[in-house]
Amino acid sequence: MSIIEEARKVLLKYPLCDHCLGRLFASRGFMISNEERGKSIKNVLFMEALNSAAGTYDEGILAALAKSGHRESLLFLRRMGKAIEPQPCFICGNLFDRINIDDIINKVKGIINEQGIEFSSFQVGSTVNRGIIENEVKVSTELGITSSESIKRELNRLIGKALANKLGKRYSRLNPDVVVRVNTSDGSVSVEAMPIYIEARYRKLLRGIPQIGESSVASVAKEAVSELRPLNVVLHFAGVEGPEVRVLGLGRPMIIEATRPLRRSILEGTVTRHGVQLLNLKAAGKVQVREIKSKAGELRRVYRILAKLYGGVSDEQLRSLEDYFSNRQIRQSMGKGRRVKLIYSLRVIPVYGSVLELIVDTQGGFSIRRFITGEGTEPSVSGTLGVKVIPIEVDVLNIWY
Ligand SMILES: [Zn+2]
Repeated sequence: MSIIEEARKVLLKYPLCDHCLGRLFASRGFMISNEERGKSIKNVLFMEALNSAAGTYDEGILAALAKSGHRESLLFLRRMGKAIEPQPCFICGNLFDRINIDDIINKVKGIINEQGIEFSSFQVGSTVNRGIIENEVKVSTELGITSSESIKRELNRLIGKALANKLGKRYSRLNPDVVVRVNTSDGSVSVEAMPIYIEARYRKLLRGIPQIGESSVASVAKEAVSELRPLNVVLHFAGVEGPEVRVLGLGRPMIIEATRPLRRSILEGTVTRHGVQLLNLKAAGKVQVREIKSKAGELRRVYRILAKLYGGVSDEQLRSLEDYFSNRQIRQSMGKGRRVKLIYSLRVIPVYGSVLELIVDTQGGFSIRRFITGEGTEPSVSGTLGVKVIPIEVDVLNIWY
């Protein structure tokens, strides 16, 4: 069926405004607005229905056009003594006539100025009454039309274009700085600044610094992004360590998420404060947050542990420890769960008397302390040596990401 035949069938059944008729054929043509498309189709139907030279006309389709608000059909029928009342569009109830785009723009401007939101790109998300969506789906499925576009998309584009012109900002569907939400049923508007994600690695150069809480890695990170003036700061770490553990080497990966920020210029480089270093700060996305969470337990890491032996151990035993923990699986019970992890290598460096330094290259996601003491862990350093072993100091030397 041609566009015109399909349109005739639709209009004989439902009165539709130019926008909603045009939108049914949105994939046809190029650089024509839905409104122009709808109006053009109605004009062609009008010309087909009315042959002035022969003095003939098709009253059925002219009446349908008049009901759909086609002015020329309405005037012609009126001249023929037939008064037809235009009816509200079956799909949108003439929403496009009611929507006040200037008013929306003013409201958006008001919110942005009042809150002082800095942004260079935006996206529009509009909501419409459910009945409109239902009617839209009803019409296109009933007539088997597959070339249509959703009303929300047309509204977002119309409002987006007007806003881009008036605000001098870029419309970005995929990665906007702010989202402008428009409720088309009551004309209310909200503006939400999208979160900023910053990736970094942190090093803890001193002991006694917790990951979160007071005087922590988190508080240094929050301070570092305070210039963005966010509503809140959420931190995503690739794994955890206790306050007494130093984190050295390349540091532990983290993402700083600044929610609803008023400013968007991202700090880059390195920040050092209170024994915490944030390295390689740079812009990231939400994808990296998912990545860091899913990979955290898998990340390979190297620990340095200073441990004290409570019992005599021979040099031979210490050497055999290195052989034994070469690519060795260990099982550790964590609450109700049980984890199987791989120790890639373990190196023993006697320090003095009963103090040892251990360098352990391993998978992450288990307690390294309990691997030393033997608590809930099989095999362990303590279990293998047959004496009590207690870690004095733990450092993360590196985390591979
Ligand atoms: Zn409509």
